[in-house]
Amino acid sequence: MPSNTARVAGRHFLQIPGPTPVPDRILRAMDMPVLDHRGPEFQKLGRRVLENVKTVFKTRAPVIIYPASGTGAWEAGLSNCLSPGDKVLMYETGHFATLWRNMAVKLALDPVFIGSDWRQGADPEAIGAALAEDKAHAIKAVCVVHNETSTGCVSPIAKVRKAIDQANHPALLLVDTISSLASIDYRHDEWGVDVTVAGSQKGLMLPPGLSFNAVSDKALAAAKASRSPKLFWSWEEMLPANRAGYFPYTPATNLLYGLDAAIDMLHEEGLENVFARHDRHAAATRAAVEAWGLEVLCRVPEHYSSSLTAVLVPDGHDADAFRARALEAFDISLGTGLTKLAGKVFRIGHLGDTNDLTILGALAGVEMGLELAGIPHKKGGVAAAMAHFTAAARSALPRAAE
Ligand SMILES: *Cc1c(COP(=O)(O)O)cnc(C)c1O
Repeated sequence: MPSNTARVAGRHFLQIPGPTPVPDRILRAMDMPVLDHRGPEFQKLGRRVLENVKTVFKTRAPVIIYPASGTGAWEAGLSNCLSPGDKVLMYETGHFATLWRNMAVKLALDPVFIGSDWRQGADPEAIGAALAEDKAHAIKAVCVVHNETSTGCVSPIAKVRKAIDQANHPALLLVDTISSLASIDYRHDEWGVDVTVAGSQKGLMLPPGLSFNAVSDKALAAAKASRSPKLFWSWEEMLPANRAGYFPYTPATNLLYGLDAAIDMLHEEGLENVFARHDRHAAATRAAVEAWGLEVLCRVPEHYSSSLTAVLVPDGHDADAFRARALEAFDISLGTGLTKLAGKVFRIGHLGDTNDLTILGALAGVEMGLELAGIPHKKGGVAAAMAHFTAAARSALPRAAE
């Protein structure tokens, strides 16, 4: 943004992989008087969102809604169904998997961390092998991040489930979908997930402040035996109140109005169409990266993320200096490289309420920013993305219209 003006006209390009831009319809839905969360009006809203949110997780199981960021829902997942000293098998997909593992240590669990290079999703075979070796069933849970937001790599959750079953191991499966839910296909019931962890400010298009646990029967049974201290996160406190449409403490009432609208919007578009749109935006973004002659961090094509693309900058160049330059010149926020990727990558978020032209605007901001920051690259990234979108639009036309 030109520093000599006080006001920046137009829309800020919030192209980080969460929080994502909140659609006007959701902002308007939340613009309501705060209501009595013990009253009959709230009860209708509570019942409706608690029931309807299940469709987004593709589950019939209870979904618990916390007035908290995603980190809270991580803690809720671990502390409800595990006890101090329990072994948990976790997979190092990147920064967020590492934070979840560090949390497990703080909660006095005993994580076994399968290491990786932060350039691919979790390997189901490695998980299966670790479980097969655990004859005594000391491992109580397997924890995997579905979309690793620091790297742009997706883990194959259905295959992880299969690996657990093939090892004939009773461990629970906990999955972090904070940056994949409502952006990338996800199926809590069909994939036999025990706890799905999610957050409001990424694919769900809401402001930060809500997070979720979808909870299987098996996880609920494990919760009965858990000795981890908790109250705010306790499913056993939450579920009886939820059955009546209420919460045991003050919920984030206005965010729930927003959630109600977000669920409607997802179904009006159709979840499968939402996923296809994200796939298209990711493919166009990768076409741009390829044309620039830069490298996508994820090096396993089956693991490419449709929520975000992390891009490596050439050695000797600073991704954060580029990001700062693009922000200053074009009012675009791009994602930073986290911990060991700091300065080495920038991340383009393409999740949430985005369309083809939004993505083209973002890619134009990146291409011009690369030039201004002196990052070696070739021109033509935006043109490559346009070609991708044009071809996709042409093939989507009904024949008669051609
Ligand atoms: C954003 C994110 C988190 C952290 O969520 P907060 O809402 O910032 O607490 C955890 N895991 C993943 C995969 C994320 O993308």
